[in-house]
Amino acid sequence: MSQRKPKLGQNFLTDPNARQRIVEALGDISVSTVLEIGPGRGALTDLLVKRARHLIAVELDRALAPRLTETWKHASHVRILQADILELELASLSSAVDLSFTGPLIVVGNLPYYITSDILLRLFAQVASIARAVVMVQDEVADRLAAKCGVSEYGLLSATAQMHARVEKLFVLPPEAFSPPPGVNSAVVRLEMRPRFEEMYVERSAFLRFLQICFRQKRKMLLNNLKSAGIWEPSAILAALERARINPAIRAEAVPLEAMAQLYRALHMSS
Ligand code: SAM
Repeated sequence: MSQRKPKLGQNFLTDPNARQRIVEALGDISVSTVLEIGPGRGALTDLLVKRARHLIAVELDRALAPRLTETWKHASHVRILQADILELELASLSSAVDLSFTGPLIVVGNLPYYITSDILLRLFAQVASIARAVVMVQDEVADRLAAKCGVSEYGLLSATAQMHARVEKLFVLPPEAFSPPPGVNSAVVRLEMRPRFEEMYVERSAFLRFLQICFRQKRKMLLNNLKSAGIWEPSAILAALERARINPAIRAEAVPLEAMAQLYRALHMSS
């Protein structure tokens, strides 16, 4: 029987032990401002309210958000925002919620799976405003985020994530930990934000576009993906691969990020 997909990815966490472990994975949040993505019925929110210096919880659902607001109306360190996380500007969050805080945010959330990648990319784009994130994602996505270069799960998402953060897969949860149960296993991942663009002498958005070209067709050789982009002369690509000491017959998934950055620099010097 096919499982009906819940509205807005609403698979609520019901396992009390898992709630505890997720909040503990954030470390000491007693002096931090925590941003919770998709609080839902408050499975994590209850614990976060007790531990965080400030808590801002962003929920899109127009029925759930007012319930949370009512529950926490007397907690002066808590703000519930009925909004789309994909539209939130983290740099101006303090004035948007009328809460005075400084320092980077700690982000937490059992992410709605229908927009997991969009949320992660949005967080990476605002990496300067975030110290750490602990998120629940599909197990398969967790494996891709944490995959080391050279293994089959390593791809564009892994490379993009690892240019922004140190990624650690913490633990796996079965569907029964949620209500209704999702059709897949879930996993909790910690992202310790640590952007690497400066140390690799690459410009962030141009390098991310370059990675997209390199991984466009995962099964193709890196050389062919670069040729198909139609940006560089084949001779310039071969010269750049040689300068970066990358075998032209290799796939992008086998190239460490440091070598990718070298290749990017070599190509951008030649164009
Ligand atoms: N945190 C709760 C829990 O652990 O039980 C709920 C998690 S549920 C997997 C995802 C939550 O994200 C839902 O409450 C859903 O309404 C909310 N959500 C979905 N899309 C959203 C968006 N674009 N912005 C903010 N919240 C969203």
